[in-house]
Amino acid sequence: MEKFKVIAIDGPAGSGKSTTARLLAEKLHFTYLDTGAMYRCVTLVALDRKIDLQNVDEVGRLARTLEIDLIPDQELGNKVFANGQEVTTAIRTPLVDANVSLVSSYKEVREKMVALQRKFAEKGNVVAEGRDIATVVFPDADLKIYLIADIITRATRRCRQLEEMGLPCTIEEQMASLSSRDLLDSGRAISPLRKDPEAVEMDTSGLSIAEQIERVYQLAQKRLMLNNESII
Ligand code: C5P
Repeated sequence: MEKFKVIAIDGPAGSGKSTTARLLAEKLHFTYLDTGAMYRCVTLVALDRKIDLQNVDEVGRLARTLEIDLIPDQELGNKVFANGQEVTTAIRTPLVDANVSLVSSYKEVREKMVALQRKFAEKGNVVAEGRDIATVVFPDADLKIYLIADIITRATRRCRQLEEMGLPCTIEEQMASLSSRDLLDSGRAISPLRKDPEAVEMDTSGLSIAEQIERVYQLAQKRLMLNNESII
């Protein structure tokens, strides 16, 4: 089987992963893979079905049987489908934010999502973003990047996204929500959020989107030793 290239981008929520990964993928003609969207899908459907989120077995059963599809989309990055129904924006609500870290801490949920993510990368070159991409999903990734940003920058970015969806947001609320997710994501027993020793760390706090992309693009060019013809 052909071995495709993988660029792994990890980091906490609001650190700039999605924008960076999506635009880098576009520039390199790689496929963008938003792994957080998968955990959000399970959470959304569990909430819709009123499944008790504390019940590991029930949530695990749902993850095993739920059909999740991520379809590359120029504008949105990935269009997201749960059992054939589009949920691209429905998975981004504060309610999903508040519950996704619990759902994603379950072993059975993670096993299913990691298998789906690896399958995705069998089809072509990918830029994958998440929390455990470099450490667990693709430990042999060709390039590993770990993004960070200060909490005010992260909360401001997240509020902007929510406001674009027509949802109210305050920086204080977002700071609390992000801090709580950080704590759960980095404190969990299985695949916690952490920087892989091989990852290049980048602080995006003071950077414009163009600067972020340029830096990761330079890194990718150097690391993947791609020539200009193949990436433009
Ligand atoms: O990236 P995003 O903020 O959409 O991720 C939502 C949540 O999904 C994270 O807070 C985390 O709990 C979970 N997640 C994960 N592993 C990944 C990607 C996301 O546990 N690879």
